[in-house]
Amino acid sequence: MSRASGAGRVRERALILRRFTYGETSLVVHALTCGQGKVHLLAKGAYRPRSRLGGVLDLFDTLELGWTPRPGQELQALEEADIVERRHRIAHSLPRFRAALSMLELAGLAAPERSACHELFELCCAGLDALRDGADDLRALVEFELAFLHNLGLAPALEACAACGAPAPVSIEPGAASRSEFSAASGGRLCAACAVRAREAGARVGTLPLDVLDFAAALRRGRAPHAVPTELLERTHDFLARFLRHQLEIEPKSFRVFLSAPHRNRREATTPGAGGAA
Ligand SMILES: [Zn+2]
Repeated sequence: MSRASGAGRVRERALILRRFTYGETSLVVHALTCGQGKVHLLAKGAYRPRSRLGGVLDLFDTLELGWTPRPGQELQALEEADIVERRHRIAHSLPRFRAALSMLELAGLAAPERSACHELFELCCAGLDALRDGADDLRALVEFELAFLHNLGLAPALEACAACGAPAPVSIEPGAASRSEFSAASGGRLCAACAVRAREAGARVGTLPLDVLDFAAALRRGRAPHAVPTELLERTHDFLARFLRHQLEIEPKSFRVFLSAPHRNRREATTPGAGGAA
């Protein structure tokens, strides 16, 4: 929530998305704020020894930032910064640090400029809290990705056909794990009839293993079991990362290495010619 203080000054809860050195002693921060979306702020003299700003502007902490908006200016001058919630423990573990960076990067790609994004902001805080409190880093990231897609109105259809809403039956093939027709372009899982129509219309339709779709649906409903094999989490992250890349039409930097590996949900090599997931 933004609130005014002083002569036109706003104070906003904020998360730092990126920070750059500016000149000799200053810092530019890109911040995700609750009430004003993405803002770019200049912390003048942040690196001077007695600056009250420099020690505060850390990644992953929830901050309260104050500035006096100047219309038409890209870069606003940061006037006040306080820590609301410390999460320095995230940086003590590399996998946790990477998961937290992925969350912030996704939020930065989706956040509006200078308009409220309360839900997205709260989602980021919840994801970062989970990482700070020792949740499994991959599971916390997968849960964030699902909630993030839902928040954008882009959640994949996981349990029913994305096109007609009918139950999407499982295709069971001899010797193969159960899979379902799936098309990112069509919005998720497809029933057999809609998969045929989508292919005829030129959409890319593949298949995804049912355990991944079921697990993602259970996570979304808060009904996933506590202990889950890492391999299933990795395949669910693979599915969501590819789906996000398709929906956002951009490849988040933090996904590049992960997505450069072969598709983890591809049909087994024992069924040559079979299509992978789309
Ligand atoms: Zn259908």
